[in-house]
Amino acid sequence: MKLDDVDGEGFQIEDRRGQRSASDGLGGLGAVLGGKGAKAGIPALILVVIVALVSQAGGGGGGTGGIDDVLGQLTGDGARSEAAPASAGGTKDEQYRFVGDVGTLLEDYWSDAFDRSGERFEPTSLVIFDAPTDTGGCGVGTPEAGPFYCPPSQKIFIDFGFYRRLEEQLGFGGDFAMAYVLAHEYGHHIQNLLGIDDEVRKAQDGASQAEANALSVKLELQADCFAGVWAKSAYEDQRLEAGDLDEAIDAAQAVGDDAIQGANANQESFTHGSSEQRKQWFSTGFETGDPSACDTFS
Ligand SMILES: [Zn+2]
Repeated sequence: MKLDDVDGEGFQIEDRRGQRSASDGLGGLGAVLGGKGAKAGIPALILVVIVALVSQAGGGGGGTGGIDDVLGQLTGDGARSEAAPASAGGTKDEQYRFVGDVGTLLEDYWSDAFDRSGERFEPTSLVIFDAPTDTGGCGVGTPEAGPFYCPPSQKIFIDFGFYRRLEEQLGFGGDFAMAYVLAHEYGHHIQNLLGIDDEVRKAQDGASQAEANALSVKLELQADCFAGVWAKSAYEDQRLEAGDLDEAIDAAQAVGDDAIQGANANQESFTHGSSEQRKQWFSTGFETGDPSACDTFS
């Protein structure tokens, strides 16, 4: 990714590496997931909130070619012009700067989108951590859980060790793989601002496990799609380099439930979607550059 001109200072990062926090006395995840409400109306609501974002999509839908064209341009020789910041010799400070720059681009993109559609935007912030930490409403965050977004505190939590493990275990890597993960978590923040995750949690309350899982998959796939929408804006700003898009697509596939569960994968237990679905929704976001194309619920 080309980020030389980005001033990453604008994106709020809290660096908790090296800190230990007491892991007792913190609210459980159940508090976040609770809530009562009717099951109806989810697709309708999501359509409404997403249609509100259509008007800001600008020329995103047209002209610049589908993902295959772009893949052709960006993957030609398979060159990876940048090493993975997480594990290929990058220092912690490089990683810190990288997520700061990408976070700034995400914030710029989504705040503009909200401004144009008259929605009220609030920035998220990023917590970098490497030991159990207070999430401010989602219980204790542990590095083992991988990156996540906590709606009550509106914060994204990332442990850089997660990337190392992904690379070792799933062959995942590259700077744009990390950008994809951050963009996916940012997508959860967008869902929070639009009230989408709230509606999903209400619908999950009292639903069967299989239904609740299916809703969770839709939420996750929408976050992948939102990540693709943002990636399109980075592409249009000529920030992508050879191999970048492949890295994101590989990463989306690597974190598919079937890839993680392996040969005994059980679709009903999926909470994030299959590799194929994750790749597909990221690509839909990228091809259209349009958040309204991310209606995974209908
Ligand atoms: Zn997610």
